Amino acid sequence: MKITFCGAASGVTGSCHLIETDKYKVLLDCGQFQGGNDPDKMNRAPFPFNPAEIDCVILSHAHVDHCGRLPLLVKRGFKGLIYCTDATADLVDVMLKDCAHIHEQDAERDNRKNARAGRPVTEPLYDTNDALDTIKHLEPVIYDTLVILNEQMKVVFNDAGHILGSAIIELWVTEGESTSKLVFSGDIGTKDRPIINDPTIIKKADYVIMEATYGNRLHEPASESVDRLLNIIAETAERGGNTVIPSFAVGRTQELLYQLNKVYDGHTPFTERLRNVPVYVDSPMSVTATEVFRANAQAYNEEMKDYILSGDHPLDFKGLVFSKTSDESKQINVDTTPKVIISASGMCDAGRIRHHLKHNLWNAKNSIVFVGYQAEGTLGRLLLDGATEVKIMGEPIVVNAQIHNLEGFSGHADRDGLFEWLSGFQQKPQKIFLVHGEEESKVEFAEFVKSRLGWDCTVIHNVCEVELGENTTITSLSTAEEEFADKDSVQEIRSRLKNALEDVSDVIENAETATDTKLTSEEIVQLKNRIAALEKEIINLGATVSK
Ligand SMILES: [Zn+2]
Repeated sequence: MKITFCGAASGVTGSCHLIETDKYKVLLDCGQFQGGNDPDKMNRAPFPFNPAEIDCVILSHAHVDHCGRLPLLVKRGFKGLIYCTDATADLVDVMLKDCAHIHEQDAERDNRKNARAGRPVTEPLYDTNDALDTIKHLEPVIYDTLVILNEQMKVVFNDAGHILGSAIIELWVTEGESTSKLVFSGDIGTKDRPIINDPTIIKKADYVIMEATYGNRLHEPASESVDRLLNIIAETAERGGNTVIPSFAVGRTQELLYQLNKVYDGHTPFTERLRNVPVYVDSPMSVTATEVFRANAQAYNEEMKDYILSGDHPLDFKGLVFSKTSDESKQINVDTTPKVIISASGMCDAGRIRHHLKHNLWNAKNSIVFVGYQAEGTLGRLLLDGATEVKIMGEPIVVNAQIHNLEGFSGHADRDGLFEWLSGFQQKPQKIFLVHGEEESKVEFAEFVKSRLGWDCTVIHNVCEVELGENTTITSLSTAEEEFADKDSVQEIRSRLKNALEDVSDVIENAETATDTKLTSEEIVQLKNRIAALEKEIINLGATVSK
């Protein structure tokens, strides 16, 4: 058996691992790269395998970094089935249509610039038709049931407790007389989360592919994060400000609603303080995803089921407003009542959240609360790392709002949670491969495991091929993830500067022609100065290159 780590090998996003025998090729996940130097380029790069030769995909869960490149796989020739749990299938349907829409919008925006600059047209990464084609390949299965993939492979999906429908995969592979068992952790959830069950402990494996997102971090308890969030919302509203929460549309948003419902529809010390603070969920996908959650009660934990039986719907309360259309979305920033705005994307690199940040970051009255992982290179990470000015849709925005990070809401187990899950194996697996983490996180987790259990973990650093057997060999492959982690060429820097310049020009053009804009003439002068500075930078760079 051979494993090729094709994505989430050097970083956290783009989860994709190829399992090969002499007869079959099966893919674990096919996720999108996010953040980093040039995610678009990494996503467009060829797969390190031929999609037409892949027999089937086993999908761990519906997050974009695990399913976001499936339409590309189908577009490039994949013909097989995509196995996932029934709740994941429902969520992937919502997710991929939304991703396609974002890619179409991005391409449209780029093409307006391309036309003005006389550059060729860019195609979207994939479009709505590709997403619809992909959905036809989904093969929903239920938890804890043996599924025969082919005469060499069998699989069971176990609850991963990460988001609704998320799975830890057990895969049995028979070659000749011998059968090996591979366990793929997917993303491992935390214990005692709202709505969903605890992650399943697996007792036996020959090989383990394990995530290590928080391999060197400990989260504060979830209940402390909830109390801190409620305090932030109340204090922010009391000083007349908004609380903006960038949140993954699928999973995290519904968990936030569940926690807020307890306060809004309950009798807690916060109920009175928050009574007049409306909660807006502003993301068309969150709205649809919440409907999917409401329709998948089979995957709920007992507490959630009891709640529903008691007559109160845990994802609905007085003061909760869903905005679907873009007019409804714009209205949120026109009305000055202090409020909570929950919007996607969770890492702030796309979607309506960017508009809300643009309208709220500059004002010291407001609070921005992060409740999920922010990958390197994303706008969310920049804000968490203390940026004092950021650029949103081409416009420089100063950061005066309070920035908070509540890791207790994380959907990922922390170091101790990961360790507890790994300790569940009753015998040392032959090999444990650590993926889906930044370098220090994987290395420190490997050291922690070694010191406590004496087990060696193999840290995956980049895209590589591993031949399993008596003498396991690892061969590095130079492919997308690695190549694009390299420094940018001067040409790339120039083209980025050019784009930046065009972005600023767009802002000015809009500001000068639109009548409802709030930009003052002073701000326009500032922007013009910024263009002049950028122009100078480009000229200097040009001079360096031509030397
Ligand atoms: Zn995930």
